[in-house]
Amino acid sequence: MSIRIVLCDDHQIIREGLRSLLEKQPDMKVVGEGTNGNEAISLATQHSPDVMVMDVAMPDLNGIAAARRLRESQPRLKILALSMHSDRRFVTGMLEAGASGYLLKDCAFSELSNAIRTVASGGLYISPRIAGSVLQEFVRHTKPTRSKPQKIELTSREEEILQLIAEGKSTKDIATDLHVSVKTVETHRTHIMRKVGAHNVASLTKFAIREGFTTLEG
Ligand SMILES: [Mg+2]
Repeated sequence: MSIRIVLCDDHQIIREGLRSLLEKQPDMKVVGEGTNGNEAISLATQHSPDVMVMDVAMPDLNGIAAARRLRESQPRLKILALSMHSDRRFVTGMLEAGASGYLLKDCAFSELSNAIRTVASGGLYISPRIAGSVLQEFVRHTKPTRSKPQKIELTSREEEILQLIAEGKSTKDIATDLHVSVKTVETHRTHIMRKVGAHNVASLTKFAIREGFTTLEG
């Protein structure tokens, strides 16, 4: 039985390249391709793949938020993050969201195919180049600390709206995208601003970038 894979990345050339390489593997089959987190979720529902190879920085709904939702809706699905970002926030964000692996985009194809087989069979895979920082993070969290900074807890809806605001979408556009009223979006925005301690969209955007909800890449 081959490993059924969905690819999700906002860059077409990455998806096309990966698909053509993966299709040459006798034990793998690409069953779908998506460009953002929302598509990842609907493709997972549609195809029930074994593995989702997923980018982290994607428009509309990023990989971290998507992984968190997939963990609820598709608990058997294995998620392998594939990103250009080695930043600790992205890596731990994905792993905390339930990803089984994290690979950097400068890896060789053989490393990716091995990582897919590893996560498909229930294992974990982290790029050697970032494994060190993941361990450091783990050690830091297990050490008793006197003053732990308060973690800001946003609901998944709030996270989604935060990303859309940071991407420059208007309240009206967001309302249309999410099929809710402008007033609902405004209420969410007020809650987000209060939780984050932001007083305007600029500081909200700065927070979103710092926390990895969105990037400045085009
Ligand atoms: Mg991307």
